[in-house]
Amino acid sequence: MIRKLIRKVLDLPAGMSKRRNKPRVFPLPQHGVRRDQLSQAALRVTSRLQEAGFAAYVVGGAVRDLMLGVSPKDFDVATNATPEQVHHLFRRSRIIGRRFRIVHVMMGPETIEVTTFRGGNVDDTNETGRIMADNSFGSQEEDAHRRDFTVNALFYDPFDETVIDYHNGVKDLHAKRLVMIGQPARRYQEDPVRMLRAVRLAAKLGFEIDEDTRKPIRAHAHLLKKEPAARLFDEMLKLLMSGQAYACLKKLRDEGLARGVFPLLDAVMDDKGNDDAFLRLSLESTDARLRADKPISVGFLLATLLWRQVNQCWQQRIAAGEKSLPALLSAIADVEAEQDNDFAIPRRFGVTMREIWTLQARFDSRSGARPYRFLEQPRFRAAYDFLALRSEAGEVTPQLVSWWERFQRADAAECERLIAEAKEQGGDAEPAKKRRRRRSSSRKGDAGGGESAQ
Ligand code: ATP
Ligand code: MG
Repeated sequence: MIRKLIRKVLDLPAGMSKRRNKPRVFPLPQHGVRRDQLSQAALRVTSRLQEAGFAAYVVGGAVRDLMLGVSPKDFDVATNATPEQVHHLFRRSRIIGRRFRIVHVMMGPETIEVTTFRGGNVDDTNETGRIMADNSFGSQEEDAHRRDFTVNALFYDPFDETVIDYHNGVKDLHAKRLVMIGQPARRYQEDPVRMLRAVRLAAKLGFEIDEDTRKPIRAHAHLLKKEPAARLFDEMLKLLMSGQAYACLKKLRDEGLARGVFPLLDAVMDDKGNDDAFLRLSLESTDARLRADKPISVGFLLATLLWRQVNQCWQQRIAAGEKSLPALLSAIADVEAEQDNDFAIPRRFGVTMREIWTLQARFDSRSGARPYRFLEQPRFRAAYDFLALRSEAGEVTPQLVSWWERFQRADAAECERLIAEAKEQGGDAEPAKKRRRRRSSSRKGDAGGGESAQ
């Protein structure tokens, strides 16, 4: 009882006393991770550090993923060398970070993140328990204790191919269980982003979140609002690029993290927390592409996330009598004005997102030179893929998608035939005659407008 109380006060997990906690050391046959499964760079960085007399381990997600038979996204190394000592050993390296200084070691196409063991003391927290500075160095044991989940606190020593485990991570890994190290509520107060990590990792790995780790999430969700928008955006992106985006969004909703926390997610889910067919289809297609190792455009992904809002606004304006393209441009402006500050969408992604949306209005124009000009647009293909998703969701007819599919591949004669076919179908939203009239009238009072706005 007393021991339990002491553990609680010191925020130590079961089995760990303040003094020393002997880790379990698992030899190769028990964990199955061979040295040659590491990347070249990870192997070279750890061996050079060890040759220089320092301790150096591969740590975190890479060890976890290798033990699960998944190929790691990147390799992190933990060491007792200070950032300066690490920097000194590697010519192509730089020290980065303010809250916690780490070293990026560049080796060929890879960048290895090398961190010095963190100290066990949370020396600077604000009134909500948020860590504000976390810059003290410590022992390997303390470093393990500062990590988030038990399965993320495993160290792999490439020299003797052992896994070092201070927190029963190996057991939890086999049980497919995500367990927070220490007291979950306190750890969420220290860093609310850990709640998002719990959801993302559980969805990505197919793990259950341990009940004690899961329970405090709902009550602490509001803390996320205070996190910097840029950090939330990064985490959101990791979530969307996890290959399990749809499962992640569902789980965020189940854990009470969807609405009122992430402005971007508020836009994605409706008031009842429902998503729509378009979103589901697009996220599933993103997940499938990622799992097949195909590239993903972040701008495209963001365009799909916010499309529901844009489309609703667009259709309302069309129903009120506005023309398709100006209605779409206004809808985009409306949505952006409403959301811009909160989303913190970096400009480079925002530009693509807006362009994909804007181009949606051009698929209806299938007469004269317009379809030819559209094909030359550098973003035509992305806009077309987006149209195909809209069609799968029942927003536009499959005929329209199939027409553009054929038009892209057609020779000159076939193109003319397709244009005639579109005319027969009456598929052009703005018939040529009307368009001429509008042009001449708009010229009187308005110098720009129309397609030149793009
Ligand atoms: P991924 O597969 O997404 O890379 P990961 O667990 O490797 O998952 P990283 O962001 O690469 O995630 O972090 C590397 C390691 O750093 C984690 O495994 C964990 O040990 C530690 N870590 C990362 N973020 C936190 C955090 N917010 N709090 C505590 N430890 C963290
Ligand atoms: Mg990682």
